[in-house]
Amino acid sequence: MPLPASMAPDKRGNTSLRLGLGLLLVQWWCLAEATAAEQVRLQLRWLHQFQFAGYYMAVEKGFYAQAGLEVDIRPGGPGTPKPIDLLLQGEVDFAIANSGLVIARMQGKPLVALAAIMQSSPITWIVRTDSDIYTPHDLAGKRVMLMPAPESAELRITLAREGVDLSHLEVQQTSFNPQDLIDGNTDAFDGYISNEPFWLQQKGQAYRLINPREYGVNFYNDVLTTRETLLQQRPAQVEAFIQASLQGWQYALENIEESVQLIHQRYAPDKSLEHLRFEAGQLKRLIMPELVQLGHMNPGRWQAIAQSYQDLGMIEGPFELDGFLYKREVTTDNSVLYQVLGGALLALLLLGAVALRFARLTQNLRLEVKRRQQAEQELRSSNLKLERLANTDRLTGQWSRLKIEELAHNEIKRAERYDVPLALVFFDIDRFKAINDQYGHDVGDCILTGVAHRIKTHLRDSDSLCRWGGEEFIILMPHTDLDQACLIAEKLRALLAAEPLTGTIGVTASFGVAQWQAGQGLGELVHCADLMLYRAKKLGRNRVERFSPCAIQPLV
Ligand code: GH3
Ligand code: MG
Ligand code: MG
Repeated sequence: MPLPASMAPDKRGNTSLRLGLGLLLVQWWCLAEATAAEQVRLQLRWLHQFQFAGYYMAVEKGFYAQAGLEVDIRPGGPGTPKPIDLLLQGEVDFAIANSGLVIARMQGKPLVALAAIMQSSPITWIVRTDSDIYTPHDLAGKRVMLMPAPESAELRITLAREGVDLSHLEVQQTSFNPQDLIDGNTDAFDGYISNEPFWLQQKGQAYRLINPREYGVNFYNDVLTTRETLLQQRPAQVEAFIQASLQGWQYALENIEESVQLIHQRYAPDKSLEHLRFEAGQLKRLIMPELVQLGHMNPGRWQAIAQSYQDLGMIEGPFELDGFLYKREVTTDNSVLYQVLGGALLALLLLGAVALRFARLTQNLRLEVKRRQQAEQELRSSNLKLERLANTDRLTGQWSRLKIEELAHNEIKRAERYDVPLALVFFDIDRFKAINDQYGHDVGDCILTGVAHRIKTHLRDSDSLCRWGGEEFIILMPHTDLDQACLIAEKLRALLAAEPLTGTIGVTASFGVAQWQAGQGLGELVHCADLMLYRAKKLGRNRVERFSPCAIQPLV
């Protein structure tokens, strides 16, 4: 019976169920909701006990119900026909078989192995420690319990491999009752390491195992099987049954105590909790869930098992694996894998998209930064151009009036602070109007440029030449007193007058010189020099006049 929804695994917080499995379960649940539950019968090969825990837990935890299945689990045991016979007769849909299944298959019975639960067989002989039986050889001449083949295949092959002929044993029909060993009714009892040893311990009977595994016989056991026709007709149901059963097994092995309690309570009340726990511990070692994927079957191992049966003379002819081993179209693990891969792909795509977006944003940002840098550069150069335009006289290339005002302002401050001399020369080309009139304005422009150039080339680096306006120029001379400035002015005057500038056109200029006086601004200094220029003009032109207080007296 499925548990109530409040006890469903997801609500109990079973963290071991992974996301992919969860999604698959949701799909199964939806499927189960959409269709009525299908009746399925499972035949066990023994009485209810932990040996079939996975199937009980698949019922109890609702894994079958979620897969749309209603599973009727039928116990086996003494008096019950062999599970594979019931399966072949159509009495049940699934059965648990031992590895003798391969014999039935080779005999032409249409059975398919779906999943092997036990990776090793639990079948063993149990002998009393007070007997002299230690190896299979010691069984010769002894009363040995043995089920018919193939149920006892592992034991028979052990004997064959050890060279012990069956005819040397006194073979007894198995009684399924270990009391016979205690009572001395047999020398070797055939049982399961997961079962009778516990019972003997409880009775205080010391025992030894003659275990086929110690002689290299290692067969699958508790193999889930079905009919070939059922698989062909209802493949989805078979797959769903396998999945839910393995899920039940996973749950049972991860929750042994809970499973033991449930089995004791609902299926095997006659088996004590201690016995079930003992059985669980033994079987877990044979199932090996930590090492092997639940239900795993290796084709090579099946081949080896078939070969062992052939060696034993139990079957003949070649063994064909095709059709015997169930090929799962879709496995849970693959589903999980695909979902994980899908998720990873989605995450990669998202990351890619984010990275692409980021790359685009970075690219745009880079372009924007570049654009702004270019704009800034252009702004800087146009500012420089504007500054140059504002600071330079376009015709002569010398400083503009605006610039000389700035330079003079700084020099006056320096002269004030450091008490150094500062001189200013103001000169004007003589009778320039006549040149314009005679040669034209363009020639006048050339003369202006020529005068500026000649003066400039003979000035010191520290001096600044400025076109003040028209044909008037100013020279600012830092660290220069009146005498020095007059000397330079005289030199320049002579230079201009010495030879013509263009062709035969010669020019002269008149110079007024003044030295900055404490407290003066540029305007006052220029005014003083201008007065002297005026004086030079008055006194006949082509001369230098130096400022002095008496020099400003009006000329008569
Ligand atoms: P003075 O000796 O008294 O200074 O006589 P002047 O003829 O030089 O004096 P005036 O101030 O009467 O004439 C100046 C002339 O300079 C008038 C104007 O045509 C000319 N001039 C001013 N600026 C320019 C210019 O940029 N280019 C040319 N070609 N001529 C200019
Ligand atoms: Mg003038
Ligand atoms: Mg002039």
